[in-house]
Amino acid sequence: MKRIGVFTSGGDAPGMNAALRAVVRTGLNHGLEVYAIYEGYSGLVEGGENIRPMSWGEVGGILHLGGTVIGSARCKEFRERAGRLRAVRNLLLHEIDGLIVIGGDGSLTGAYLLHNEWQDLVEELVETGQVTKKAASRHKALPVVGIIGSIDNDMFGSDITTGTDTALHRIVDATDAISSTAASHQRSFVVEVMGRNCGYLALMGAMASGADWVLIPESPPDVDDWEEKMCEKLRKGRLMGRRDSMVIVAEGARDCNGNPITSRHVKEVIEERLGEDVRITVLGHVQRGGSPSAFDRNLSTQLGVEAVETISTMAGEAEPLIVGFQGNKLTRTPLRVALEKTKAVADAVAARKFDEALELRGAAFGRSFEVVRTLVRATPHPPAPDQRRLRIAIMHGGGPAPGMNTAARAAVRIGIDRGHIMLGVRNAFRGLINNEINEFNWMSVNGWATRGGSELGTNRTIPKGRDLYAIARSLEEHQIDGILMIGGWSGYQSILELYNQRKNYPAFDIPMICLPATINNNLPGTELSVGADTALNSIVSAVDKIKQSAVASQRAFIVEVMGYYCGYLALMGALATGAERVYLHEEGVSMRDLVADVEEFREAFKKGKRLGLVIRNEMANEVYTTNFMRMLFEEEGGDLFDVRQAILGHMQQGGTPSPFDRIFATRLGVNCIDTLVDYIERRETVGLCIGQVRGEVSFTHLDDVPRLMDYEHSRPVRQWWMDLRPIANLLARQGYSLTGEGETAE
Ligand code: ADP
Repeated sequence: MKRIGVFTSGGDAPGMNAALRAVVRTGLNHGLEVYAIYEGYSGLVEGGENIRPMSWGEVGGILHLGGTVIGSARCKEFRERAGRLRAVRNLLLHEIDGLIVIGGDGSLTGAYLLHNEWQDLVEELVETGQVTKKAASRHKALPVVGIIGSIDNDMFGSDITTGTDTALHRIVDATDAISSTAASHQRSFVVEVMGRNCGYLALMGAMASGADWVLIPESPPDVDDWEEKMCEKLRKGRLMGRRDSMVIVAEGARDCNGNPITSRHVKEVIEERLGEDVRITVLGHVQRGGSPSAFDRNLSTQLGVEAVETISTMAGEAEPLIVGFQGNKLTRTPLRVALEKTKAVADAVAARKFDEALELRGAAFGRSFEVVRTLVRATPHPPAPDQRRLRIAIMHGGGPAPGMNTAARAAVRIGIDRGHIMLGVRNAFRGLINNEINEFNWMSVNGWATRGGSELGTNRTIPKGRDLYAIARSLEEHQIDGILMIGGWSGYQSILELYNQRKNYPAFDIPMICLPATINNNLPGTELSVGADTALNSIVSAVDKIKQSAVASQRAFIVEVMGYYCGYLALMGALATGAERVYLHEEGVSMRDLVADVEEFREAFKKGKRLGLVIRNEMANEVYTTNFMRMLFEEEGGDLFDVRQAILGHMQQGGTPSPFDRIFATRLGVNCIDTLVDYIERRETVGLCIGQVRGEVSFTHLDDVPRLMDYEHSRPVRQWWMDLRPIANLLARQGYSLTGEGETAE
């Protein structure tokens, strides 16, 4: 394979540019020529100027842009054989050996067809004299690799697709804004989100926003008169003191007879039956637009790299594959299988086989639906008369992390709904020492899903010595059966201390679970922690702005980000913003590195580079501080460029939690309570950390923590994301462009 083509097609999706950049740069790095096909299938059918070679620099400075810089289109002609014949002719004329398609199921269906018809179409072109036999013989088959670009997340082959996370950002921004105006006027809102056959955005939007009711295509309300059930729920919510109510409707929502449920219908029903003032907001194309989230940039970048790795090793006649992201890992799936399974859900919905549709979506989807249904209840199920009501304490520990409140809310509501008594400990372990413990009720956590900071309060106190007596007394006084600690490393250390002191303090001999919530993402037993995604998005939007501020001068920025000794935020921030250099404590920083980097910058600025970007973890090196680096670069840069530093600071711990963090926090919170209850009922003492491993919720024993952690640097011994280091190095290779990343090398 010498030359590959890449295009974006169908509905645009934020993150397509990151995928394109990764495809072009990885391709060039592999020694391939990469041709972009502008305007999707229209460009392929039209040919000419629409098919052009791409350089390293041409895809610089596009990571933060929404949409797709090479255009997308819907193309009727390509649906006909005649159109595809022209497409094949253009591919042969440009001697393109393989295609990378970034698009939705329509676009990928088109590519599948093109692959299957290839030989036929080539023969026809030869017979009609449109291409030579020689040209045809060089291209006996068309290798195809797909990347799913779809905000709906409606395809098989990837747990999440390019654009979905950004769409959720847009939805959550809107629902947060709507909630506050709705609460002010005690109004009801109906919010319509995209998703014709797939309720993913609606369901996750509801989970992330604390909506009161959600209607999705795969699981219609199970009663004929669902309207009454919904109104009853909203009525009860008002009685309980809710000031706002919100119903989220997927555009393809339907009732159990298969009839569409429109947002207008929902509005009319609420107005008639509750006499309320109801407004509709149809989010529409807002969901597609805007700058991609940090997650979408990094996901799409990885998929772009993997697509090139896949196609460059593909045998000529190999069947088309899609690259995806499943269980926090890159995967390859036959396109045929992905398309078939995707179609099966749509068919099941159309045939009103809703159970089948829900099952096909996967177990996690069904579980999320159940969780949403519980969390949005106006009142909990009453406890069973003969039930043992457990007393579970919920608390924080460590620094603040966005999403702590979301996790606490989910845990409290699930616990109360299961009939248990949920107790809130204020001010982390200090509060446990000082006996600051109160019982929650259902409404005490109302509105917490969306709130940043920590309502219960958190700090880094680690109990020792006499504190342990005080804690034992508090636990005994409140007859606490189990503890859920939602927090960071000092919270984990505190729970470990209690766990290790079980023999001396019988009150500690109860099940305890730690839920990872820290922006640093430095905790054992999990690939991710709640809060890290929000912090990453804060970093990325700050760096985007910093880059824009430097349009007129030759300037390098040194941006310092948090993370303590863990370089997660620094590396992922660099990957998402295209920073040329990133300094991590994990790798160390030497004077030799710094000198080499300054030299490289000098060379680049000499050749006309306008903007340089360096990201530095706050603890990267004790001696070579951010200020030191600024002075070094400034001094050595001479007249070639000036240097500014930006220490992003505590803004990284604040802000409303991102949709990813809200969904993740909810999932973990629910799981923790179910597990705690299980252990308490079995009278089995256990100390666990919950987390996500290979995309699945999993538990690690506290006994294993010392083995998993590098205590000196408060970070896990093995950090999966360090595997992304080579990609960050490669894609942001030193360059000379106006935008700060690479017009170089080739
Ligand atoms: P998406 O890729 O986002 O699902 P569409 O369904 O509109 O968007 O598909 C984009 C383009 O892909 C269409 O305009 C058409 O050119 C091509 N396409 C879609 N479905 C087919 C098909 N069944 N056969 C051939 N081409 C198709």
